[in-house]
Amino acid sequence: MYNIAKEYGSKVFNEQVMKDRLPFDIYQSLITSIKKKSPLDSSIADVVANAMKEWAIELGVTHYTHWFQPMTGITAEKHESFVNFNPTRELTLEFSGKELIKGEPDASSFPSGGIRATFEARGYTAWDPTSPAFVKGHTLYIPTAFCSYSGEALDKKTPLLRSMQAVNKQGNRILKLFGEADDIAVEANCGAEQEYFLIDKSVYEARPDLIYTGRTLFGTSPPKGQELDDHYFGVIKQRVADFMQDLDQHLWDLGIPSKTRHNEVAPAQHELAIIYESANTATDHNQLIMEMMKSIAANHDLVCLLHEKPFAGVNGSGKHCNWSISTSTGENLLDPGKTPSENARFLLILCAVIKALDEHQDLMRVSVATAANDHRLGKAEAPPAIISIFLGEELTEILEGIKKDKPVGGKNRSKMNIGVDVLPEFPKDTTDRNRTSPFAFTGNKFEFRMVGSSLSISGPLFTLNTIVADALSQFADRLTKAKDFKKELNALIKETIIKHDRIIFNGDGYATAWVKEAEKRGLLNLKMTTDALPLFMKKENIDIFKKHGVLSKTEVISRGELLLEGYAKILHIEAQTMLDISLRDIIPAVISYSNSVADGIASKKALSASFSADLEEGLLTKLSSCSAKLWQAVAVLEDAVAAADEDGDTLVLAKHYSDSVLPAMNELREVVDCLEALIDRDYWPLPSYGEILYSVK
Ligand code: ADP
Ligand code: MG
Repeated sequence: MYNIAKEYGSKVFNEQVMKDRLPFDIYQSLITSIKKKSPLDSSIADVVANAMKEWAIELGVTHYTHWFQPMTGITAEKHESFVNFNPTRELTLEFSGKELIKGEPDASSFPSGGIRATFEARGYTAWDPTSPAFVKGHTLYIPTAFCSYSGEALDKKTPLLRSMQAVNKQGNRILKLFGEADDIAVEANCGAEQEYFLIDKSVYEARPDLIYTGRTLFGTSPPKGQELDDHYFGVIKQRVADFMQDLDQHLWDLGIPSKTRHNEVAPAQHELAIIYESANTATDHNQLIMEMMKSIAANHDLVCLLHEKPFAGVNGSGKHCNWSISTSTGENLLDPGKTPSENARFLLILCAVIKALDEHQDLMRVSVATAANDHRLGKAEAPPAIISIFLGEELTEILEGIKKDKPVGGKNRSKMNIGVDVLPEFPKDTTDRNRTSPFAFTGNKFEFRMVGSSLSISGPLFTLNTIVADALSQFADRLTKAKDFKKELNALIKETIIKHDRIIFNGDGYATAWVKEAEKRGLLNLKMTTDALPLFMKKENIDIFKKHGVLSKTEVISRGELLLEGYAKILHIEAQTMLDISLRDIIPAVISYSNSVADGIASKKALSASFSADLEEGLLTKLSSCSAKLWQAVAVLEDAVAAADEDGDTLVLAKHYSDSVLPAMNELREVVDCLEALIDRDYWPLPSYGEILYSVK
């Protein structure tokens, strides 16, 4: 029997373990540097490492690894055993402070976007004590940041940690203006809701497109998809429930606070949500969740698909990132609060988010831009590619009131005067089911809903942290200089609303009317990844990352290059897979089936001229017209792929894929899907959508 109370966090080197196993002064020094995010006293590293080693060995551990998050979007690990010899060649089990703090993996095979010259293969990993070490299998995992030898970030964690420092610094300046203590820390939090598909291993293995690309590149819609809305929150099938339980237990062992599990909208689609944590830990944990979903599914003869759009025609998968900022004393700064001062502080921070989102729509869009996510954004299942904020009626009304100096919240209130009045109490809008907004305020947090299901949440989070920190820094600059704080605060809030409220939209984000309205408001609509990515590298965006020490110019440019390159590579693989399946599976099937129909006609006619072959002839005519189109579509796609200049400019290459290769892929798919609908099941080489989506019984 699994005992959740006993097992929860049993494989984590957490605060309790540290307390139990470290001398008190060392424990205190470690905890202080974790909580205050101050540099670690290196003299204590040996003691900490030794305690970690002993604790891990008791759990059956033989190896340790610096665990990091290179730009591939997945994690990397290289195991070292504790085995060592002393000078007389006796076995010693070693793990030193130096080994805990720093590793030097060969960085040459990780993508760097040109940062790391080929002659400088070394990179280094540096322990991140703010995310706890843990045991998985027989290995002790030490979360680390991964940098080049000259100090440039080569990973997803470093900019996130830097952005959290920016939030801390600017948040602290704001809090001090409201009379808070000097040393109060401010932290960004995230609770990520992860969507995924589960299918049976046998159908997966029969689909080369799923194997190579994570999504189906062909497939007609099944007779029944999600029309009846009968899957959402439906009864969980036993096999799926077993998987979920197994997964949850593994997550709890690692101190990952898995909370909610349910069926999602599409057949075979599910969701897991965890309780929110510090943005850094949440990011590490989300990476682990994705990895464990895959590995545990395999133990159940299932395959977990994390792709944003595994199946055309049914909903894809996203990852809602719930985001807030809070103080080290546990106060949520996005909570409207009860006192006038809390209300004023809340409005100021709300305004910072509004300003940040409006000024940096492009960066928010970039942070979720991938080839896979393009298939779902704006397709009536996920928010459009337009950034806007949902605030709900009540809060919007309050902002309107401030903007127009009009009474807010009842007759007895004459004028909104921030810093004096208490805001009219508005209930937390937990019933918000406006799922069409990309960025929704849900009572005391924002929910960023554009994030793709397979994406590391680091990018969206460090972007959000940076742009909000920047708005806060501008506010702090102005308010620090103010002679009359309250007056300046009022003016600042009002001005910000007037200038940036075009970004607020409470209506239906899926409606075409919104696209028009957004255009009128001058909001960006960056439909494709290739529309968004170039903006990442524009001067203003480099400047803001530089200003807050999140990314240097070199780091921004190299990341931009990498993203563009990655986009082109994904499409290249998809196009090649389509061609391969078309030529080697589909065309032979079409020919065999057409031949068999033709043979049927011939034999019927041979028996007696009076037999009607109208049916067969009709079918054959259709088949032959589609077959001709198929051959043509294959040729067009082949030409488009061949025309890609892989050695040329990366943006030109990415654009070639989005503008020429992708339309050719769509064309080919359309023809193949038409053929699938005509051809005898027994001849068709791929499991159908129906067979895949209903494969888990
Ligand atoms: P739903 O969005 O389905 O209504 P909830 O709002 O309860 O569900 O929570 C969704 C996610 O938001 C969970 O991961 C939860 O931990 C997270 N969350 C709740 N409060 C905060 C907060 N203050 N900051 C960040 N995330 C939060
Ligand atoms: Mg939610």
